Amino acid sequence: GPVVALLIGMAGSGKSTLFHRIHYEAAQTGKRCYFINLDPAALEVPVEANIDIRDTVDYKGVMREYSLGPNGAIVTSLNLFATQFGDVMDILDERTKEFDYIIIDTPGQIEAFTWSASGQLIAESLASTLATCVVYVVDTPRSRSPATFMSNMVYACSILHKLRLPLVAAFNKIDVQPPETCFSWMDDFEAFHVALDEDDSSEAYVTSLHRSMSLVLDEFYRVLDRVAVSAATGEGIDNFWAKLDASRLLYDETYGAEIRRKK
Ligand code: GDP
Repeated sequence: GPVVALLIGMAGSGKSTLFHRIHYEAAQTGKRCYFINLDPAALEVPVEANIDIRDTVDYKGVMREYSLGPNGAIVTSLNLFATQFGDVMDILDERTKEFDYIIIDTPGQIEAFTWSASGQLIAESLASTLATCVVYVVDTPRSRSPATFMSNMVYACSILHKLRLPLVAAFNKIDVQPPETCFSWMDDFEAFHVALDEDDSSEAYVTSLHRSMSLVLDEFYRVLDRVAVSAATGEGIDNFWAKLDASRLLYDETYGAEIRRKK
């Protein structure tokens, strides 16, 4: 069956650009992909998603009707859509043989999906019948500083524990900044400690906290798969498909087996 990739990441990490890039590369290379947009506030329409939350929920209307700000309206829109997600699952279950990849874009503000009941419900519905993984999009240029890198990884770690699905960290924007520094920090916490010592922008107690946390994260990095991509140029997208295939296997062996056991 297909593998579902949930694109999750901090605002500005490049989720939407990556969604468009995957759409383009899939067409170029003949990959059988199905696209779902769960971002009610997405501005552009260049990608025709097969299923688009904007077709059923009017984000601006939700803002007016319930007198909500942008973030409240995103969560409410997602809640409204989640009530109909059974219909989406019916479509997906019916068409599993037609696709190898199901790519899902999530709202720009990360917490709208990761810390909402509807985000959890949608992820659980998908993972109950389909091999599902999280693609955690990282802004590589912004992760040059060890402190920002660590915050990003702690967030990824919390998503892994909340959603309990295979997680691939996609280091994006490698056309601007190569990923090797981040990778070296993941492979060797001593390299990270050296970077912390060289970074004099943090208070001593913060550096000390980061040092301790890196030891905890070391465990997390071992279960984390990673890939370097540029949504802007398409570099690394061939590896991206391979990582999704690997996640499908991992899901079947571990997460999926656990879900089937609980049923
Ligand atoms: P989202 O909020 O995560 O959906 O992020 P967007 O897709 O809107 O991207 C945020 C900004 O980063 C935009 O200005 C994009 O043009 C830019 N961006 C995204 N991917 C890349 C990339 O691979 N390379 C470069 N140089 N810029 C990128």
